[in-house]
Amino acid sequence: MEQEEQQVETAQWNDGWIQVKVPLPFSLKWVNSYVIPEPDRSGYTVIDPGLRTDDAVAAWNEAMKRYGIAAEEIKRIIVTHQHPDHYGLAGYFQKLSGAPVYMSRRSHAYTVRLWAVDSRFGGELGQLFSKHGMPDELTSAIAANLELFEERVSPQPSVTYVEAGETIRFGGFDWQLIDAPGHAYGQLLLYEPHNGWMFCGDQVIPRITPNISVVPGEETDPLNDFLMNLDQLLSYEVSLAFPGHRDPFTGFTARIEELKQHHTRRLDRMKRMLEEPMSAFELSERLFGINLRSNPHNLRFAMAETLAHLYYMEHRGSIERLDEAGVYLFHAV
Ligand SMILES: [Zn+2]
Repeated sequence: MEQEEQQVETAQWNDGWIQVKVPLPFSLKWVNSYVIPEPDRSGYTVIDPGLRTDDAVAAWNEAMKRYGIAAEEIKRIIVTHQHPDHYGLAGYFQKLSGAPVYMSRRSHAYTVRLWAVDSRFGGELGQLFSKHGMPDELTSAIAANLELFEERVSPQPSVTYVEAGETIRFGGFDWQLIDAPGHAYGQLLLYEPHNGWMFCGDQVIPRITPNISVVPGEETDPLNDFLMNLDQLLSYEVSLAFPGHRDPFTGFTARIEELKQHHTRRLDRMKRMLEEPMSAFELSERLFGINLRSNPHNLRFAMAETLAHLYYMEHRGSIERLDEAGVYLFHAV
């Protein structure tokens, strides 16, 4: 009988670094995990192991077989940020290898908020979206979709905190940890100044614009935090960037400029649309289309991203908010 093997895509960079394209059940298709050997091959560091699904575990088994890596050779696991497509398999690999899992305190606090047994996150998000005009059946669908993630991040790891400003050594280099808020508060990027290498998580990605979401109870202007951080990142000399999605790329500063321009254009367009007052939900549907109603995962991103842009403009006084019978409407000033 012929066994059909799933073909996991991998690539090699620098001195034996392995990029594993860990499959995702979303339109994003894959998340990049990077496996970095020690120079003497005494062990490996895994950055962002991926979302826990059967396909992802099968892909990992195949990749590790391909490169002759045993689980117990994994010496540390670094998670750039809390999103489940990066964090989900951290506990699984920790269980297999006994390796420490490093992430920032803030990033970890968010995983607790999302996936604690008594988490109220889905309900809080629903309340926020409903104040911004989203119908109840859609907020319920989003909450139900969020619950699916619980098993995709299980078992949860025991975490060792590392913070921006510190350095962490692996692969024969000292890596500077850089705070990168906006896409995910607490996200850490890893920078190696001598070669100009940067693991840039989801902060700077080629061809996709990182999602910027308003999260209930968190900072109210994530887009501003993101744009300010992009300006800070311009001061790093990067020869090769290793993003969480798509492929490693050169032209880090040019990509940052494109991302900034994207948001400027999006803000201008939204402001023009708000000549006529409307809710965030209505605006989100005009921007991203009504087909998202059947895709609660993408609907959540679209709505939270629309809110991030609205909050940004509201903070700068270029739009105003009205309370129309319990639902917020925005209009250009
Ligand atoms: Zn992310």
